[in-house]
Amino acid sequence: MVSVSSVDNVGLNTQGKIQQVTILGATGTIGTQTLDVISQHPDRFGVFALTASTSVQGLFDLCVKYKPLYAVMLSPTAASALEAQLKNAGIATTVLQGEDALSQVASHPDVDVVMAAIVGAAGLHPAMAAAKTGKRILLANKETLVMAGSLFMQAVIDGGATLLPIDSEHNAIFQVMPYQRTRILADMGVKRILLTASGGPFRNATIEQLRNVTRAQALNHPNWVMGPKITIDSATMMNKGLEVIEAHWLFNATSSQIEVVVHPQSVIHSMVEYNDGSVLAQLGNPDMRTPIAYGLGYPDRLVSGVSSLDLLKIGRLDFCAPDQNMFPCLRLAYEALDAGGTAPAILNAANEVAVEAFLADQIKFMQIPALIESVLSTSDIEAVTSIPQLVDVDAVARRVARDWLTASIDTH
Ligand code: NDP
Ligand code: MG
Repeated sequence: MVSVSSVDNVGLNTQGKIQQVTILGATGTIGTQTLDVISQHPDRFGVFALTASTSVQGLFDLCVKYKPLYAVMLSPTAASALEAQLKNAGIATTVLQGEDALSQVASHPDVDVVMAAIVGAAGLHPAMAAAKTGKRILLANKETLVMAGSLFMQAVIDGGATLLPIDSEHNAIFQVMPYQRTRILADMGVKRILLTASGGPFRNATIEQLRNVTRAQALNHPNWVMGPKITIDSATMMNKGLEVIEAHWLFNATSSQIEVVVHPQSVIHSMVEYNDGSVLAQLGNPDMRTPIAYGLGYPDRLVSGVSSLDLLKIGRLDFCAPDQNMFPCLRLAYEALDAGGTAPAILNAANEVAVEAFLADQIKFMQIPALIESVLSTSDIEAVTSIPQLVDVDAVARRVARDWLTASIDTH
């Protein structure tokens, strides 16, 4: 493992200069909440570029409101449609198209801050581009770290980038672990990281109920409003598994130093236990604008629009252990982390295919872990050497996953 800390390069805002922000995945739930926080601080932030995959109307509306210099659409037809709409509306935003354009607006010399909020492995290349060019990276796209943690962390160091975790748990850990410049957790007097998990909508379900869970039930998260992929990941607890791997890279923690604690209220966003017995926690309402504002403002604290935490109304905070038999995805993620090398990239690719298939009503809920386990157990695990290698590994794992799907759909 590369011995790095995510926060070696944290720097201060350039005093007085408006920070130019690119938002990758602007039409998503993180993207729109980022724009909400930015719009509360026009004296600090300008919108340089906004990107989306296919949501023409969504990106058009954001361009009308925020007037970025650039808008990027992944799909060429969507880009042409957006360009026509913007021209009709008299908006001067330049429309670019394709994967390379995502990386261009993430690495443009005029950009200071990049919010990496594309969902899935598709977020890897532009996040790497931002790292290599020394941006302040607000990392929501956890899949980048799961797929390519060692290479991404090295790119952050080499590029002189500033990496601020946006995932609420990792943002909480960052907030309560102020000495991350030291490289080994033990040197900081840290005993373990306690990663909190809401437990998702099926925390109290029986295995029988889990087998028959519908798409609508799985999409109904009790505490957070999020995009469909991460919402399903939360229901299977793969989200927490991906977050264990994310914490490993961000905080240089071994798998045995990262413990998952189910905390249904989602008020404590994570904790760090020190050798002296102190446990430091970060609390707040479950609203992503808090970590987003923290990342945008660091080291300043910005108004985010989040309401005050009313502990008296909440009344109690509960905790229990996760059940890895009910939620095998969590176990699979720990196993992939311990296997190392390309195993987490394979886990991630198989999971993305499984979640898409579940959302398309092609497989049942408990087939998600079955598919991932099958792909992991039949794949060769190699040492990580390069991004092109990981892109190949991702493609092969997706192919194996699709073969599994074809076979399992044929037998039903
Ligand atoms: P959403 O599904 O709401 O948004 C995803 C965004 O990515 C959209 O702008 C979408 O564009 C764009 N996008 C999708 N596929 C591609 C692609 N292939 N290439 C380029 N852009 C693409 O996701 P979320 O905002 O919920 O999550 C974003 C990331 O943040 C995920 O990695 C998630 O795990 C992480 N995260 C999210 C949290 C949350 O509260 N939502 C909390 C912690 C982490 P389009 O609209 O055109 O499809
Ligand atoms: Mg999270």
